[in-house]
Amino acid sequence: MALVVMKFGGSSVANRERIQNVAGIICSSAREGNEVVAVVSAQGDTTDELIAKAGEISLKPSKREMDMLLATGEQASAALVAMAVDALGVRSVALTGWQAGFNTNATHGSARIKHLDTERLRAELDRNNVVIVAGFQGVDPAEDITTLGRGGSDTSAVALAAALKAEVCKIYTDVDGVYTADPRKIKKARKLEEISFDEMLEMSQLGAQVLLSRSVELAKKYNVQVEVLSSLTGNPGTIVKEAVNVEGMLIRGVTKDTSFVSISVISVPDRTGIAYKLFSVLGSKGISVDVILQSVERDETRDISFTIAESELERALALLQEHKDSIGFRELTVDKDVAKVSIIGSGMISNAGVASRMFGALSDAGISIRMITTSEIQISVIVDRKEVDRAVEAVHDEFIK
Ligand code: ASP
Ligand code: MG
Repeated sequence: MALVVMKFGGSSVANRERIQNVAGIICSSAREGNEVVAVVSAQGDTTDELIAKAGEISLKPSKREMDMLLATGEQASAALVAMAVDALGVRSVALTGWQAGFNTNATHGSARIKHLDTERLRAELDRNNVVIVAGFQGVDPAEDITTLGRGGSDTSAVALAAALKAEVCKIYTDVDGVYTADPRKIKKARKLEEISFDEMLEMSQLGAQVLLSRSVELAKKYNVQVEVLSSLTGNPGTIVKEAVNVEGMLIRGVTKDTSFVSISVISVPDRTGIAYKLFSVLGSKGISVDVILQSVERDETRDISFTIAESELERALALLQEHKDSIGFRELTVDKDVAKVSIIGSGMISNAGVASRMFGALSDAGISIRMITTSEIQISVIVDRKEVDRAVEAVHDEFIK
């Protein structure tokens, strides 16, 4: 007998058939003798629909009331799944995030879990109930409902698995695992049997849309073994865990990201502390900068280019203009036609020449590189946005045979 935490995403509980399918998965695990806790997301596009509804009422709805509204989506699916499990003859109980013990801070819309009080959950399991938990939500010290941010049910599930010391946290979704690249775009993409927490973290941050990076951070911190698998096919999925075999797999995956833009600050005086000044202006307002490139000095000035999330563009430009005199630049230019292609793999730590193979593959495909960044297990390049899919394919072909 083991304690298993499962999580079912919005598409896995989208309608009656899907809910019954999920109930079937839960019941077979319970009938094998496992203690089962299942975390569910809101059905299908419910969260987006609720956000749209709020928008019809108010241009700037209060964050507290937004959380109250959005939490209903998960609450409804938890109740429906519990009913479906009951109908199959397995006793179950649905709990809200609050009833399940999720205590969070008061940051509505992106609350952090502070403490998980598992007493009620434990009691329900001891009564031989399967427990269905509404994901993505908790309660703050003022007893107001909070939500954990978009996609937050992954985080709920991993946190529960850690607190209950579950054997495994199974994340059921509509793809059957983590792939070497987006299988909808890259025909030769293949499913990974396993991937390390660090690799998965890089993949999530660099654009793979499988697991929320916060949930991977949590899994790494508490060493929770996660399996990503499909609720529809019954195939084994991808195991995410601490140590994986890197033999024969230099690169675990190729990702792309098209959600950012590049800003160039032209003719910045070449003085000590200018880069500090420039980036602290942005950092102090919470705008995070990703790739940075500084040109060589000419006439005692340099150009500094960097990338930021597209959604932050207006704010960043306004801030830089406001500090134009103290930074001392001549002008700002913006390039939206950019995308990032990254390769990720622990295998590159002990193998030289990975970067040059990547650059070679891009050059053979006639794709020019504008900026480069690397970390221990990741290499990213910035290319023209219209070339991004070709770039992913060329790099994938080079490393994944
Ligand atoms: N329903 C929420 C969302 O769509 C949370 C989740 O699905 O994990 O973001
Ligand atoms: Mg959802």
